[in-house]
Amino acid sequence: MNLIWFKRDLRVLDNPALHQANMSGPCIAVYCLCEDQWDQHDTAQIQREFIVASLFSLASQLAKLNVPLIILDTKTFHGIPPAMVRFCQEHAIEQVFTNEDYELNEVSLLNETEQCLANHSIGLQRFHDQCLLPPGAVLNQQQAMYKVFSAFKRQYVQQLSDTYFAVLPGPKPQSPLAISSDVSVLSRMGYPVWTNARWPVGENAAHEQLTRFIEQDIAQYDQARDMASLDATSGLSAYLAIGVLSVKQCYLAAKFHHEQFNDEGSMVWISELIWRDFYRHIIFSQPQICKHVAYQESTDTLPWQKNEPLFLSWCAGETGYPLVDAGMRQLNTIGWMHNRLRMVCAMFLTKHLFIDWRLGEKYFMRKLIDGDFASNNGGWQWSASTGVDAVPYFRIFNPTRQSQRFDAQGSFIRQYVPELASLNAKSIHQPNSIERQKCQYPLMIIDHSQAVADTKLKFKHLNTIAAGQPNGINP
Ligand code: FAD
Repeated sequence: MNLIWFKRDLRVLDNPALHQANMSGPCIAVYCLCEDQWDQHDTAQIQREFIVASLFSLASQLAKLNVPLIILDTKTFHGIPPAMVRFCQEHAIEQVFTNEDYELNEVSLLNETEQCLANHSIGLQRFHDQCLLPPGAVLNQQQAMYKVFSAFKRQYVQQLSDTYFAVLPGPKPQSPLAISSDVSVLSRMGYPVWTNARWPVGENAAHEQLTRFIEQDIAQYDQARDMASLDATSGLSAYLAIGVLSVKQCYLAAKFHHEQFNDEGSMVWISELIWRDFYRHIIFSQPQICKHVAYQESTDTLPWQKNEPLFLSWCAGETGYPLVDAGMRQLNTIGWMHNRLRMVCAMFLTKHLFIDWRLGEKYFMRKLIDGDFASNNGGWQWSASTGVDAVPYFRIFNPTRQSQRFDAQGSFIRQYVPELASLNAKSIHQPNSIERQKCQYPLMIIDHSQAVADTKLKFKHLNTIAAGQPNGINP
């Protein structure tokens, strides 16, 4: 008997571990529920509920293949290896099949589980499914991980074109087994039934969303993706984060579209998928990032400000900067934020309020349905100028200009900051003090020009020290 161990690959189609287990003989499926780990990783409540709803959906998909799904409530990560060994012994499992994770704890867990299983003569077969090309497979001439995205992407695209790519054939139904599915522990968690129409649950829903995006929006993606008020991005990140959809399915759909229409939109979208992979390759090559160390370690000496009231204003979307507030309120309301807004809000916290990016990273994780360590950390460190191929420290977004550029009519702001709805398209980006008073909207919590000047000075000082010039400007 074989066992397929699901983790962040909650799908039946294009799942290498399931495919191989299914090809190798009869199999049972398990998922280890680990709420303690969710707490430690700041997994948002909305993502927990989405995972649970997706597990119910996975159980019914697997039932069509006569593959029973059992949820093991291991509570902690350390509980997983012994629970897996016990389960395998009870059910005479000879081989376990699973897909890789790349975060430090997750890699250690897999290694530890593999060892425990091996001690009982049970094999563990590991597969790659989270990236188009596995971490470690795309290296520069010095056999090291790239530090610049554009160079990484060039090499990635080259290797992709040399690789045969096709989605795996769907698994075949097996003969019914004596053991039945047991997902009762999920019901006992008492989560509400998933009714979120923005992210309908299940693989079919994810594929419908992918198809709709490819047919209707991908061709304009390069032009429209930055406009927060347009629903112009795929909205697929929630599915990708927990593996209801594979990145290969997305890539192949976009590639096919490009081959037909030769459009720029598909190319730009594929580039975003490669950013996602880039950050996974980075955490794999620099595992210390998973311990919250900055990629550019010297930036860890920056004198980040501890200021609870300013941080709380940012969290609540009450900074007095309409676009920042709209972004934060979108996050707080729906558990997702548009990419342009993520950059604006992250940069505001780190460059205007000069608050440590790790606090923002944590807050996002606690709110996002698509919370994903590698992408979230990558996005935060990009915005804070502490990461790999990050924005230069002196290129600081002006939130008012971002607003005029990417929400010119103010419609996104009106949606999430309704107290400003009566303002016209000119004043909504930076209301004057009378308008603020009338709308009961807060004053700006910090002055843009002053904040930018202060931050540049602090980074400049850091760079001077790094260059070994002790007489640098003292911030
Ligand atoms: P689309 O524009 O349709 O892009 C398609 C897919 O490509 C996305 O679903 C995502 O998987 C990937 N992608 C797109 N942009 C990026 C990017 N900049 N970096 C990495 N992958 C990308 N993405 C997450 O999935 N989880 C996170 O926790 C996360 N946190 C972020 C935090 C910050 C500060 C920033 C700046 C970005 C973050 N991103 C994160 C990346 C990006 O904002 C989201 O992936 C995107 O907004 C999701 O919407 P979409 O599916 O409509 O994206």
